[in-house]
Amino acid sequence: MSTPSDCMFLPAGTRLFSEGDAGDSAYLIKSGEIEIVVERDGHDMVLARRGAGEIIGEMALLDSGRRSASAHVLVSAEVIAISSRQLEQRISNTDPILRMCLGVVIERYRDTLKLICSNGVEPTPAPRRPPAGDFDAALEVLTLEREIERALAHDEFELYFQPIVRLADRGVAGFEALIRWHHPDRGFLTPAQFIPVAEISGLVVRITDWVLRAAVRTIPMLLAALPETPWVTPPAEHPLFVSVNVSGHDLLQPAFAETLVGILRAAGIAPQHLKLEITESMLMKDPVRAGRVLKLCRDHGCGIAVDDFGTGYSSLSHLSTLPITTLKIDRCFVQAMTGDPTNRKIVNTIRHLARELEIPVVAEGIESEAEVLALDAMHCEYGQGYLFGRPMPVSDAVAALRARPPSCSNPFRLSA
Ligand code: C2E
Ligand code: CA
Ligand code: CA
Repeated sequence: MSTPSDCMFLPAGTRLFSEGDAGDSAYLIKSGEIEIVVERDGHDMVLARRGAGEIIGEMALLDSGRRSASAHVLVSAEVIAISSRQLEQRISNTDPILRMCLGVVIERYRDTLKLICSNGVEPTPAPRRPPAGDFDAALEVLTLEREIERALAHDEFELYFQPIVRLADRGVAGFEALIRWHHPDRGFLTPAQFIPVAEISGLVVRITDWVLRAAVRTIPMLLAALPETPWVTPPAEHPLFVSVNVSGHDLLQPAFAETLVGILRAAGIAPQHLKLEITESMLMKDPVRAGRVLKLCRDHGCGIAVDDFGTGYSSLSHLSTLPITTLKIDRCFVQAMTGDPTNRKIVNTIRHLARELEIPVVAEGIESEAEVLALDAMHCEYGQGYLFGRPMPVSDAVAALRARPPSCSNPFRLSA
């Protein structure tokens, strides 16, 4: 028995499958020629001839129906089986709208084929509804997409700001801008409730544009609070920054860097005050293109941070070619570090790698002093987490910058 990815060599005359067989694989033809036929009134009716680069038996991939045609080899062929299980795994990971539409298209294709083969004498098949789970999920995604568009038009989003501190003196180095949605019916939504849909639909590009403009607008307010707060003032060579999360989709926009520079110029903000955060996994999807756009942004003076570092599979050779100015160590390692020596080693290894590349690190998700102690021992430069402050509205970030709590050197410690 061949496994799904085996390449099969089939001499001319071989029957690959027959009409009525139970089928669960399609076949990618590498070479040769295969004929698809249906038998009608004792005669073979040729439906198609397929050659190298084409796929046959594709309907078996999406349902477990019987083969509606036979396939035999005309010119000796090499084929690779693609099993429905392989495809199911991929489809179940995709957008429910795509899944639902694909199911409907395949149904209609199968019905049309039945009608053609029976010369139109069969009654038109009754329309079938997509499976309830897919339908509900697709409806939810379609609704959320419309609502995101409305939210952009009606200014329902708000940026929250979470401080990033220097671990040495706990002075604030900058803030990460994190989006929130005041949804008129669903209430206060966090990014996990809508960013995944925005990613699938591509709407994330419009969200990022909104976020960039909103983040840049807040920079003067934060900078204005600094002269009153000498104990948190960052050194001149590392000016206060706001970092913004960008998606892989953003970096595929040819005009991304140009738009970004335009936004900064229009607001009169030096690019050094803006940092872009991109997750390691997004970066690795298309490192060459992402690297090109990030380099343009870096050349203009913006900082570039690799987010959630350690959770993806970036190759070190890629990292050293990208214009990275900060590595953010994912919170899963930071939080597991104090109880687990393996995670401590991972954080330490990332710290060493960063030092080799002369890139400072931010440890994410710090919630306890024990974590700070461990990170201090590794000479991590920066930290971010609930211990220093939760994400907060800009007015609270400004107020917290100004108000130095008497018993606490870190102004964010007491914030909500
Ligand atoms: P992220 O970029 O890794 O952001 C950090 C997340 O960790 C934030 O969640 C923050 O509230 C949370 N966090 C910070 N410190 C701690 C801590 O000590 N403990 C725990 N348990 N969590 C902590 P949030 O705001 O819900 O954002 C989740 C994710 O959504 C972000 O992860 C980012 O990937 C995405 N996101 C947020 N804002 C935006 C945005 O404007 N655009 C895009 N494309 N994605 C965004
Ligand atoms: Ca981030
Ligand atoms: Ca992160």
